[in-house]
Amino acid sequence: MEYFDLSPYDYLDFPLPMRAVGWLGPRYGVQGAGAAPMTGAEMERLRVASWRIGSVTLGWHDCDFCGAFEGNGEYRYYLPDGEIYAAPMMILHYVEEHGYRPPRELRDGLRAAGQPRWDWRAERLHTVLLDQSEDPDFRCQAAVDLANWNDPRALDALWHAAHDEDLADAAGDEIGRSLATFVDRGLMRDLLPEGLHDMVRYGIGEASSR
Ligand SMILES: [Zn+2]
Repeated sequence: MEYFDLSPYDYLDFPLPMRAVGWLGPRYGVQGAGAAPMTGAEMERLRVASWRIGSVTLGWHDCDFCGAFEGNGEYRYYLPDGEIYAAPMMILHYVEEHGYRPPRELRDGLRAAGQPRWDWRAERLHTVLLDQSEDPDFRCQAAVDLANWNDPRALDALWHAAHDEDLADAAGDEIGRSLATFVDRGLMRDLLPEGLHDMVRYGIGEASSR
């Protein structure tokens, strides 16, 4: 999949509107040639923001420019201005190896970004996660992305989701990974996996073995 930077993202259905960045390909080549090169600080901010992979069901892709790298899934950046940018996992490779320069909107946004405040995006993901009539893929992505908010409401929803048998069957590993982040940040003192669904325990184990 290839997008011109900042185009509306429509690769997969997603419960929130997003813009595409870093979806490079043969049609537009390595975009961003007119932008300033990435500074070391900007590179570091991008790495820190790229902490959680979503939509790993996208499948594996080779780099169109060197063929040497494979990526699967995408990063989603929730910026304080309300925008969400979706980038392929390979965005870091494109920047480091091929001189890709992400658009100013993302770079400035990441500079300003701290912990996102609870907002309409969090509310929407919260509602999707807890709604049993929602699309299972939406609920899975909500379980991944709610971990962007270090907020008790996100934790409560994920804890509830961990005990939803159908959802845990489908997305328990992602729920577990998200729960583990709240321990890392101190919002949850300890996570006792006893009694939790096997998939949730697997996700918690994966997160803590990193
Ligand atoms: Zn490459």
